[in-house]
Amino acid sequence: MAVNGTILIVEDEDSICDFIATSLRAQNYKTVEAKNAREGIALAASLCPDLILLDLGLPDMDGGEVIKSVRQWSMLPIIVISARSQEKEKVQALDMGADDYITKPFGVPELMARIRTAMRHGMIAVGGRPAAQVFRVGDLMLDFEKRLVKLGGTEIHLTQVEYKIVAFLARNAGKVMTYDAVISHVWGPYMDDNNRILRVNMANIRRKIEKNPAEPRYIFTETGVGYRMAEEE
Ligand code: CA
Repeated sequence: MAVNGTILIVEDEDSICDFIATSLRAQNYKTVEAKNAREGIALAASLCPDLILLDLGLPDMDGGEVIKSVRQWSMLPIIVISARSQEKEKVQALDMGADDYITKPFGVPELMARIRTAMRHGMIAVGGRPAAQVFRVGDLMLDFEKRLVKLGGTEIHLTQVEYKIVAFLARNAGKVMTYDAVISHVWGPYMDDNNRILRVNMANIRRKIEKNPAEPRYIFTETGVGYRMAEEE
């Protein structure tokens, strides 16, 4: 059977590392394990894996050092494995160039879904597939060329800023985008602390596109981190 790809697991806790490796091998991935950051950096460079699963709390260095090192030479997908208490670290990791994160404890289906999404984005990043002109999820449709948003066939009127936010999240569907990433995309890198304005815009967007804004179907909030657009089915 064909191998789905090689995944480097950088994790110092043996039980978690074994659990992940076993689950991945059962899904036809090849796995390589590193128990500290130094080993992770070396193996990433020598093996060029298709994806890295990275624990942030490593014995020798912070996992962030692995992201920094890898990002100097590659856009290969990196998914951070973090503890629930590491909210700040998660945001830093994403801003440093990690593609996504998964919070312990997690189940195998969630891990596999994240891996598939990150790999798909990795392929687009290296030019494997042109960006689509239309994005669809559920009843929501975005036409990037016409800058048109429809819900169940009816055109939704969004302000320019609202459209920019929705289009940016749709272009990166399935991936969490940090508040800072959204803010600098919409208002530029010099706009400090626009979190409040972003929240106001998001509330307006949800009123327009979600049936129940309190239980969003399309744009999810990752508390303390950012927003994630549901993926195309
Ligand atoms: Ca650890």
